[in-house]
Amino acid sequence: MPDLAQLENTLQQATARANRDVATTLALGDRSDFEAAERGFCAPVPPTGIPAPNGRMAWNIHYFDFLQADCPDTVNPSLWRMAQLNTVAGLFEVCDGVWQARGFDYANLTIIRGDTGWILVDPLMTRQTAAAALAVVNETLGHRPVSAILVTHTHPDHFGGLKGVTGDDPAQYPPIYAPANFMRYAASEGILGGNQMARRAMYQFGLGLPTSAEGVVDGGIGKSPAKGERTFVAPTHFIEHTGEARSIDGVNFVFQMASGTEAPAEFTFLLPDKRVLCMAEVCTRTMHNALPPRGAQVRDTLLWARTIDEAITLFGDQTDTVINCHNAPVWGHEASMAYLVEQRDIYKYTHDQTLRLANHGHTPHEIAAQLDPPAFLTQAFHARGYYGTLPFNARAVYQHYYGFYDGNPVNLNPLPPSELGQRMVDALGGPEDVLTLAATAIENDDLQWAATLLSHLVFAESTAPKAKPLLALVLRHLGYREESGIMRNVYLSGARELEQGVNPVPMVGGRNRDLAAALGLQDWLDAYAVRLNPTRALDAELIINLSVGSKRACVSVCRQTEFSRLDHHNQQANAHLQATQSQLEALADGSADLDDVLHAGATLSGDRKAVELWLSLHDQFDLWFNLVTP
Ligand SMILES: [Zn+2]
Repeated sequence: MPDLAQLENTLQQATARANRDVATTLALGDRSDFEAAERGFCAPVPPTGIPAPNGRMAWNIHYFDFLQADCPDTVNPSLWRMAQLNTVAGLFEVCDGVWQARGFDYANLTIIRGDTGWILVDPLMTRQTAAAALAVVNETLGHRPVSAILVTHTHPDHFGGLKGVTGDDPAQYPPIYAPANFMRYAASEGILGGNQMARRAMYQFGLGLPTSAEGVVDGGIGKSPAKGERTFVAPTHFIEHTGEARSIDGVNFVFQMASGTEAPAEFTFLLPDKRVLCMAEVCTRTMHNALPPRGAQVRDTLLWARTIDEAITLFGDQTDTVINCHNAPVWGHEASMAYLVEQRDIYKYTHDQTLRLANHGHTPHEIAAQLDPPAFLTQAFHARGYYGTLPFNARAVYQHYYGFYDGNPVNLNPLPPSELGQRMVDALGGPEDVLTLAATAIENDDLQWAATLLSHLVFAESTAPKAKPLLALVLRHLGYREESGIMRNVYLSGARELEQGVNPVPMVGGRNRDLAAALGLQDWLDAYAVRLNPTRALDAELIINLSVGSKRACVSVCRQTEFSRLDHHNQQANAHLQATQSQLEALADGSADLDDVLHAGATLSGDRKAVELWLSLHDQFDLWFNLVTP
């Protein structure tokens, strides 16, 4: 058994050396980005944090005060610099009539003075953080009502706080503007694959980790998501076309559609009278994700680059400042144009170079290993990989064009990890020999090989206890060297679970009930069908007509497959259930049985047993499944 303490000592020295080397290659002493982030300061964030209703803290930027120290050996110094930048928090003036609240949550709230009140852009992720930001706005700039809200895209860090700024009375809701197809994607993106995505998001955002020099330091596009109550109010106005001009509470907007880039429905906009361009999340002060490690449908990097270029051609002449819905603004016409061109080119470079290498016959891992970053990244901090990374994005581009299969027949049907692990351990001479190989790899600072060997031992199960502490050590040091805040979180979360097992963390308001209620019936039924257990459904044959509000659907289970057809009832159905969608939800999650919902106003005709059978055929998903162990 290798000496763990000795290997840890070896790794500490190697990580310190690797991180010192990073510091010599970049102009980390350049303060211009800090001046850009601090410019226009008006008011601080609440000094004692923003409490959540359950007595815990929804958000407190001061958890990151440790970042004021010099960079420790446990953090990549380029990431440390970015982490310091993202900690510059408060209410900031962008220009006359435009402000941003930054550091109140993961994203930015942008505030525009309208004729009669505040026009708010992207009211954060939770009710508490959005309300706290609006309170600082009103206290600092004078109390005004909210006259309109814009939601730039379908990701929850930009709309979960809606009720924190609208209140709960629908009669008082202001007009809410969103991109076309917003409703189709806001609720449904991630609903079918949601359990897997939610679990992996905990790794991406480090939700089980402390905020410290050995834990979470940054999330690239901000610090980390707030933990308050997530809400939703349906938008009332939809932007359909690029070039669409609107006057909203007396302020002129010109919109550009950016759907299919960073989010499936998204817009950017120009404030022509203020010469301010808001690039939403299409541009941020980091390389973004073509595919987030939490999992998502892969994004189109070519369209992304073209959309940024379209913004340059449409709005460039009228732009003196670029603001984003994450990170700090870019000041001045020339700097704004350089920023947009470099943001465009990092996605175009990743796209073209991945396909160049793929067309030369290389596979995803080969491409990721040989794809060098473009030279301009040594100067352009905002295009570096603090959120997405070049190797991960290159694999995503490959996936976009070719899928997961790399063309090698050996990979048509690879062995599952546990079986492969056991056989590799046996083939390499048994667990002690594999541990010795791993220790040698660590001594040679060959960490990916060490992690590969140790992961085989962990997945071989019987040998896992000896390998887990060593694999945790290797993952931790891979994390300490990462430039990307979220990839660091992924490594450190894996290390933590290898050492401590899977510890459920309390999720404060994790589920957005308002949003679930906004889900379309087809999306709801599709998500329910994903839970059909084919063994239990082997002999099942049933047809159920549903009436849900004004909607009708017919659900059939046959051939171990569940299918729903909207706007349709079947004459041969076994039963007809009339219920609300929240009653269906309660039946599906087991919080109510059929008698409960029938007492609450649902009606059932036909064969009750068919409905009971239907409900019994579905799995419940456990959020806390294993990722780093079998
Ligand atoms: Zn965002």
